[in-house]
Amino acid sequence: MRTRFFIAAFAALLCAGAWLAVPTAAKSARPEEAVAPAELVSAQRGTLPIILSAPHGGSVRVEGSKDRKEGVTVKDLRTAEIAWLTSQRLAEKLDGKVYVVIAQFSRKDADANRDSDEAYENKSAAAQYDAYHRALREYVDEVRKAHGGGLLVDIHGQARHPDKIMRGTRDGQSVKHLLGEFGREAVTGEDSLFGQMAKQGYGVLPALDGDDLKEDMFNGGYITGHYGSQNKDGVDAIQLEIGSDYRGEEAMHKTAEDLGDAIAAFAKKYLLKK
Ligand SMILES: [Zn+2]
Repeated sequence: MRTRFFIAAFAALLCAGAWLAVPTAAKSARPEEAVAPAELVSAQRGTLPIILSAPHGGSVRVEGSKDRKEGVTVKDLRTAEIAWLTSQRLAEKLDGKVYVVIAQFSRKDADANRDSDEAYENKSAAAQYDAYHRALREYVDEVRKAHGGGLLVDIHGQARHPDKIMRGTRDGQSVKHLLGEFGREAVTGEDSLFGQMAKQGYGVLPALDGDDLKEDMFNGGYITGHYGSQNKDGVDAIQLEIGSDYRGEEAMHKTAEDLGDAIAAFAKKYLLKK
């Protein structure tokens, strides 16, 4: 099975410690140019206006760091793998590559979906946090300049509603551009990202027939707040909290395929049209 190969390759990448280099702020090194083992972030530069982010799927402990004493430190199980597999699916479905930023470092050391004030408690962890955001910022800027806008999908996992995928757009704020251009339909309609998942049989929250954009829980963290299109230098950003039923060792393969298909269908409808 093809997806198995990708996971094997991904695992091999983890074991070898062969991290794709994170672009530095000024030099913008291409991912294949160098290996920076101290930076536990996998970053792939893309060609399409789509960025996948997975800040909570890592498990590699940062040398010289200690467990964070404040905040949530639990890993979003298999979200790093799902992000990577989804990017592979999208490469099959669309004409080009998506951008990917995945934290390999543990959330015990740094939480890339928090403001820097509360994301880490020591310098070693700060360097990992900074590497994550350097990559995201560079890719968001690049996508905006090259395509005039884009979609950032921030991939997480939750166990509160195991059979649901939960939407986080800060109650619509982080998809301001999308709403302005296409209306609410693009966020809650049947061809929206969550509409596409629902069509494939996934439970989604909030329910799509709801009339407003209010999201109860997991309604978007730092990443959607900082990189979303409510900011002048942002793109449309959606946090996706995948229920634990969809992240099992077997289930994650189908989830990633379906998510790739959903993003591709969304992109064809709203993103890649001129
Ligand atoms: Zn998370």
